[in-house]
Amino acid sequence: MKLPELPTTVVGSFPAVPPSDALFRYCRDGTDPYGVSLEEAVEAQISAGIHIVSDGQTRNDMVKLFTTKLSGIRMRSKPVIIGPVGYRESITAEDQELAKRLIAGRVLLKGIITGPFTLAMSCQDDYYHSPEKLAMAFADALNGEANRLAGLVDILQVDEPFFSVEYPEYADALVSAIFEGVELPRALHVCGDVGGIFSKLVELPVDILDHEFAAHPELLDVVSDTNFTQKIGYGCVRSDVNIAESVHEISERIKKGIACAGHGRLMLDPDCGLRHLSPEVARAKLENMVKARETVMSNEG
Ligand SMILES: [Zn+2]
Repeated sequence: MKLPELPTTVVGSFPAVPPSDALFRYCRDGTDPYGVSLEEAVEAQISAGIHIVSDGQTRNDMVKLFTTKLSGIRMRSKPVIIGPVGYRESITAEDQELAKRLIAGRVLLKGIITGPFTLAMSCQDDYYHSPEKLAMAFADALNGEANRLAGLVDILQVDEPFFSVEYPEYADALVSAIFEGVELPRALHVCGDVGGIFSKLVELPVDILDHEFAAHPELLDVVSDTNFTQKIGYGCVRSDVNIAESVHEISERIKKGIACAGHGRLMLDPDCGLRHLSPEVARAKLENMVKARETVMSNEG
């Protein structure tokens, strides 16, 4: 599949079936309820017209999705590190295989890995007693998953929301360790206000920097004032408001992004994952984003 100009994608998560419904579905007919959610998420993205889709990350939240599968971790309300963190089995590969089968060549597929710093900051560390050592251990373990996904997905994204809370000086080492040996386009998603760290993010060995421009439009000024080579994942739909923005509103945001960074550098997506929205709103946001892109492209035509 050839990627068009101004391609559309998602950050990753999609609304999943509520746990009570999941239990009901599982008991009633033995189906994998999260697999059903995955199918719904993939089909919703494709029917909305998204070019690079995700598996919807429906199985768990972005932290537990990974901490439940890595070794050295005891699951409590906050995961506890009790030994060396290691990669022992595929984490998202089965879901990505299912997504790939459903897609059947219609669109491209994005693999998503929750970043080592975000995982480290989300755990209670009773073993390393060092945020840096724990984060590096996560990065080395996650490299196993990155290589596992390399033959399956078309692009690999690392999510590091905690970079905007507290930027580690060893960020480059973390990102390099995860992507070691992986020959895929590399994306880094950091939500929150990244205005103060954007000049550091552009130094990282990634191809796409993905941020929340709908919630933080002032970031465009920072982008304008910074020299960098990466493409921009341009969040143009809010993921924290459970109302779909109008096509007009999104079109205006896209025009501002193009005026700042140019066509060839932007990929359009929502600000962040859509897990906390209702399925109807999540669908409407994607559909309106695609329509807004078409409006902008035809006006420029
Ligand atoms: Zn995010």
